[in-house]
Amino acid sequence: MNFDTNLKLIDGVGPKIASKLSKLGLEIVSDLIYYYPRKYEDYTKPLPIGSIGRRSNEILTIKGRIIDVSNKKTRKRNFTITEAVVEDGTGSIKLIWFNQAFLAKMLQPGREMIFNGKVSYNFFSKEIVMESPNWSSKPQIVPIYGETAGISTFFISKLQSKVYPLLSEIEDYLPEDVLLKHKLFSLKEALQNIHFPKSSQALSEARRRIAFDELFIISLRSNFSKEEIKSEKGPEIAVSDEDIDAFIKTLPFKLTGDQQNSALEIVKDLRKGVPMNRLLNGDVGSGKTVVAAIASMVVVKAGYRVTVMCPTSILAMQHYKTFCKLFAKSEISVGLYTRERKESSNPKIEALNSKQVPKSKSQKSKKTADCLPLAADIIVGTQALIQKDVKIENLGLVVVDEQHRFGVKQRAALQQLISPQQAAGSRQQTANSQLPTANLVRSHFLSMTATPIPRTMHLALFGDLDFSVIREKPADRKEVKTRFVSEINREKAYQFIERQIEAGRQAFVICPLIEDKSNSNIENLNSKQITNSNIQITNLFEDERKTVKEEYEKLQKIFPKFAIGMLHGKMLAKEKDSVMADFCANKLNIIVSTSVVEVGVDVPNASVMMIEDAERFGLAQIHQFRGRVGRGEHQSFCFLFSSTRSQKALERLNSLEAISDGFRLAEVDLETRGPGSVFGTEQSGMLDLKMASFSDRDLILEAAEAAKSVIENDPKLMKYPLLKKKMLEYLENKHLE
Ligand code: ADP
Ligand code: MG
Repeated sequence: MNFDTNLKLIDGVGPKIASKLSKLGLEIVSDLIYYYPRKYEDYTKPLPIGSIGRRSNEILTIKGRIIDVSNKKTRKRNFTITEAVVEDGTGSIKLIWFNQAFLAKMLQPGREMIFNGKVSYNFFSKEIVMESPNWSSKPQIVPIYGETAGISTFFISKLQSKVYPLLSEIEDYLPEDVLLKHKLFSLKEALQNIHFPKSSQALSEARRRIAFDELFIISLRSNFSKEEIKSEKGPEIAVSDEDIDAFIKTLPFKLTGDQQNSALEIVKDLRKGVPMNRLLNGDVGSGKTVVAAIASMVVVKAGYRVTVMCPTSILAMQHYKTFCKLFAKSEISVGLYTRERKESSNPKIEALNSKQVPKSKSQKSKKTADCLPLAADIIVGTQALIQKDVKIENLGLVVVDEQHRFGVKQRAALQQLISPQQAAGSRQQTANSQLPTANLVRSHFLSMTATPIPRTMHLALFGDLDFSVIREKPADRKEVKTRFVSEINREKAYQFIERQIEAGRQAFVICPLIEDKSNSNIENLNSKQITNSNIQITNLFEDERKTVKEEYEKLQKIFPKFAIGMLHGKMLAKEKDSVMADFCANKLNIIVSTSVVEVGVDVPNASVMMIEDAERFGLAQIHQFRGRVGRGEHQSFCFLFSSTRSQKALERLNSLEAISDGFRLAEVDLETRGPGSVFGTEQSGMLDLKMASFSDRDLILEAAEAAKSVIENDPKLMKYPLLKKKMLEYLENKHLE
């Protein structure tokens, strides 16, 4: 057995289990080694029961003797509740489990055990209860891994012990002096303790080392690419200020100050002759699209082409339309290229096609018509644009919208798209210039996101990526009034929506599920969340979760006069586009949708966003939903519904009521949530952090300093081949910016 051994070759695994393991991303031994527990249960420091008092909603550990065990049936739903009483000399506590009658036989009265679980204090019965605790007979720290159907954390632990001996062979990629200077565990020691913690002290050192690595590699990559890009050539963009001003005058509104500044920064970059590598960070609704349009215009004027990549076909369609409108009065042509739709609004392209498009291109493709959009100056599309057979020549700028929504593989392909290519010369030049063959040009790159990143963190981790921020919202914008609505007021909320629609407005209703109640139907919860979350526990309440189809039918009864549409990820792109188009044209009054509307959709006439089971979504995601309204001059409203009883969830939902600024919300999230779950970054893919977190301020700075000094002393990492390999893997797989 070695690090590359396929898991199905391990004793007791076999093809069936291997295929289940692959659902967790586990294929070979090294995947398993780097599959970290999502949490630990610490049985080493039990609290005296008497000291618990009225602590509530906390995970605690206790140690005591079982004095009584019994099963009870509830009248209502026919649940079995197993109850045990445990006592330790300082007090006693009741433990309960749901629907696990067999436990009563396993828990023998008289035995002393250590229990770990959530305690809550019941004010009516005046007793503390520990809910569904796990237990251990000896003081130890037990890793809990993300599970999937048929693969338990226990099974994963067993596999870990089988590969454990290999860990002693693991080579460290961090330079000696970095390890010494920052007092880090060796990689071997760290991984051993991650999977089999010797003590809580050793575990925390192990986590520190792994977290350091994650941050260090990100920062190293950033320093490394910065060096690389500096030495590369970018498409030369020479456009006069007059051209830019003239275009800005054609816009249907006056740019905000921040939009102007961002556009200016971008144009400055484009003129430099070095590839631009810039992130445009602006809250939802701040108007990033038009800034991208200005950049595109400038690049096209200089004779290059532009692609605008979107994560969904709905968004691509919308941007296509926006760009068509913005460029209606100009010579600039726009194309749409998604898997289902390939069109170009501009009849000019057809003429162009017969004359200028290189023959080879039309011959290669089966359908010449499919290539038409690729001949446009600006090509808006989805990941269909990064398929192998799609060739876009003379690409001067790649814009990526809502970059965090792209998957890992797509990001790698995107990287290909912008990486240095033979400069065919701009269209104006082709006739008369002969460019040297070695003239490689890297496209300019502009990434847009609404995920707010604190500035110091940005500098430490993404120093290579320049940063423009739009904080200001267009002046006519009113704050979206957000209310957490309790169930008794649901009727009122519907009446409110009715009045809004009668006044000409439109409404969104968001539900977490599409149709049936199986977990596979939850859209856009990332795999991390699915494996990590308490879905087993919430299963009890699953039947109460709202589904798009049910809500759709229900709302049709409530609002018989209104036209209602439905939108979810399982529909064909064509169907989605047409529903969205109807909604944009105000042919639909209400749209009931899953989180597919989350990214970027822009319908300025919509004024109500109603979110069902709001606790099922992250703060960042709800903020995105809310950003779907309040995009025009109308006062807009966001109603949050939730039947959660979790104090934390309620607090989070309440913070949405109070705070409308995404950056501010991010700070609050940073303060109130634990490591690794900062606003949006979890889902954002900006960082692939398993251990480290944004709140690890000091560690980030340490890692950044270490990375910088390594690159300064050895820019090409000649002395550290292992480290270079690790970084390049990361570059290929994980990252785009
Ligand atoms: P986001 O930053 O979320 O991508 P969009 O680019 O979709 O935001 O813009 C949101 C809405 O604001 C659009 O309807 C757009 O036309 C409008 N908009 C953008 N800039 C301005 C401005 N300076 N003044 C008024 N409306 C604007
Ligand atoms: Mg947008």
